[in-house]
This record gives sequence, C-alpha cells and structure tokens, in this order.
Amino acid sequence: MNKNNSQHPVLVTGATGYIAGWVVKYLLEKGHTVHATVRDISDNDKKSHLDKIAGDCDGEIKYFEADLLKPGSYKEAMADCQFVFHIASPFIMDSKDPQKEIIDPALDGTKNVLKSVNETDSVKRVVLTSSVAAIYGDGIDSKNVPNGIFDETMWNTSSTPTMGEYSYSKTVAEKEAWRICEEQNRWDLITINPSFVLGPALNTKADFESKKFALQLGNGDLKSGAPDITMGMVDVRDVADAHVKACFNESIKGRFILSSESLSLLDAGLFIKEKFGDKYPVPTRNAPKFIIWLMAPFIGIKRNFVSRNIGYKVDFDNTKSINELNIKYRPISQAITDFFQQFIDEKLV
Ligand code: NDP
Repeated sequence: MNKNNSQHPVLVTGATGYIAGWVVKYLLEKGHTVHATVRDISDNDKKSHLDKIAGDCDGEIKYFEADLLKPGSYKEAMADCQFVFHIASPFIMDSKDPQKEIIDPALDGTKNVLKSVNETDSVKRVVLTSSVAAIYGDGIDSKNVPNGIFDETMWNTSSTPTMGEYSYSKTVAEKEAWRICEEQNRWDLITINPSFVLGPALNTKADFESKKFALQLGNGDLKSGAPDITMGMVDVRDVADAHVKACFNESIKGRFILSSESLSLLDAGLFIKEKFGDKYPVPTRNAPKFIIWLMAPFIGIKRNFVSRNIGYKVDFDNTKSINELNIKYRPISQAITDFFQQFIDEKLV
C-alpha cells in the first residue's frame, strides 16, 4: 500500500464524533493524511478507535485541539489543507440552555471555521455537515410541500431559538455558511443534509443522540407506546460515503439530502424483532397523541412539539444523492440491526 503523503492533508472537525469517525475511516483508507480536531487532545479513550484504524491502513492521522467557540482555534489544523470537512456541531436534544449549548457553537463555530478557511489559501472546498433540520422544522410543515416530500430547494422556516432549537441551529449555521461562501470565489461549499442517522458506531463506548434513539427501540422505554412519528432515516456509512464522494467530485454543487427511507418507530422496532426474536421489548403500538400531549412537560418535551410533529409523515427526495454522488443506500433494517447488535455486544440491552 502506498502512503498518500504527497497530497495535501484534509481537515475533519469534531473527528471523534459518531458520523465524523466514519468519514475519518474512509479518508484514512483512501490514504489521506487527516488533520483531526478534537476538543480534548489528552482524552485517549475518545481517539483510540481512530488510532487503530490509522494503524491498519494507508493514511495517517494527526490530532489538533480546537473548540468551536475559541476564535482562531482551527487555523493551525487547517494549514496546507485543500479540503475541510466541518462536521463538529452539538447534536443535543435535552439541553437546559440551548442558546449557549447548541445555537452559539453551531453558528459562531461555523463562522469561526470559515474565517480560517478564508485566511488559508490552500483550501479549495468545504464540505459542511448540515441536516434535513435545515430543510424543514416540524412534521406539520410537510403539509405545505408538494406530496409531502422535501427537497434541496427548501429551507426550514418554522424553527426559532425557543422552538426546535437544534433545527434552528442547523438552519442558521448552514445559511451563514452559504453567505460567507458567496462573498469569495477561491473555495466552494457542499452541504450534506442527512435525515436521522443510524448504524454501527466506531467508538462503541461513546454516547450520542442516534444511539440514545436506537437504544429506545429495544430497551423497553417505548413498550407501552411509541410516538406516532414517521421520519427519514439513513445509515451512517452512507452518510460518510457521501461526505467523501462529495469532496472529491469536482463537478457537483450545492446541497445533498441523504435519506434512505421514511419509517415509523413501529416499523423500526419490527426490524429488531425480525432479526433477534421476542427477547427485546420493541414498541408494538403507538401512544395516543393526547396522552403524549398531556405528559409532555413531565417527559421533557414541549406540547408545541407534540402538536406539530406527532401524527405527521416526513419524506425526502434523495434523487440528487443517487444521481450525482452515486450513493447506493443500505436498507435501514441493516443500519438498525447492525447498531442493535453492538448494544447486545456491549450489554446495553
Ligand atoms: P456527535 O455528538 O457524535 O458529534 C458531535 C461533534 O461535535 C463531536 O465531535 C463534538 O466533540 C463536536 N462538538 C460539539 N460541541 C463542540 C465545541 N464547542 N467545539 C468543538 N467541537 C464540538 O453527533 P453526530 O456525529 O451525530 O453529529 C455530527 C454532525 O452531524 C452534527 O453537525 C450534527 O448536527 C449532524 N447531523 C447528525 C444527525 C444524526 O442523526 N446523528 C442527522 C443530521 C445531521 P466532542 O467529541 O468533543 O464532544
């Protein structure tokens, strides 16, 4: 195998995260030198899976400490890079202070990273991990789009700093990225807008929202009834594949929705039942909307969220990702059962 060190290094922000881990893996396998930013460089437990991957393949990994909220923090890691994957951004659903914990790091962090991009002459392209949360706010918004299907021309117009805070953070961060990009012509911007991401993690000890969600499908939390929500889902390996393909395909432009299929929580639980039998308590019925509405303040969700999301089906047009990035989507059954197998192996269920 040839070490690909003659190439410029590539930067991955938030390299120890769930999605970023797979992006780093694919880049290392292609022989790239990856400049990986982490918040705490001394935390070896968070990095050991990446070191192992780097040891087994062509590429090389170099760590840099950086924080989205520290101005200039990404400058050293970005030096000499042609490609920047900006993946770091807080994905937290139960924040006590969303402005400080979610919105500021998403928006100010994007400005911070792109300011360094503007100051680093080697950079030619930025691949930003946005989300379908920047395309729609709540399930009820599907009533206002043709056939209830969202595409890349659409923007989330309903989330605010106090309602749908995470979705708001992704919307303002992506909009700001496009605004900054349009002010210059040295580098271009591609955004990857995944729906809910599922599938095995490279760091099985880590905790993150996708894992919390998938665990609930089989740990009994939803046994007495699941919220009636139908949402887009996509395998983490396809999302990472899309990041890498988007980076190295010069002819593509714009935003890319990454979503394999739209499924209810009951459908998702059934995959676990089909593969692992009756051993795990998957949801078997939907909880009535009015019960969830009544319970909402006691289970940490807003009544407004219940009214605007439960009972709605959200669907996405993924044609652009198939035609231009050549994504061959894995079935969601595989994402869920491979993920769940990790929970069994780790004795989490
Ligand atoms: P993770 O929680 O695993 O990753 C979040 C990353 O952001 C971590 O690497 C975290 O670093 C980093 N981060 C958070 N705050 C800061 C900060 N202040 N400074 C520096 N780094 C910070 O979640 P995911 O992998 O799921 O999320 C990655 C990206 O994908 C996010 O942009 C998210 O919005 C987006 N996304 C995720 C979806 C999903 O379903 N999972 C769907 C659509 C988009 P640390 O490890 O130090 O905490």
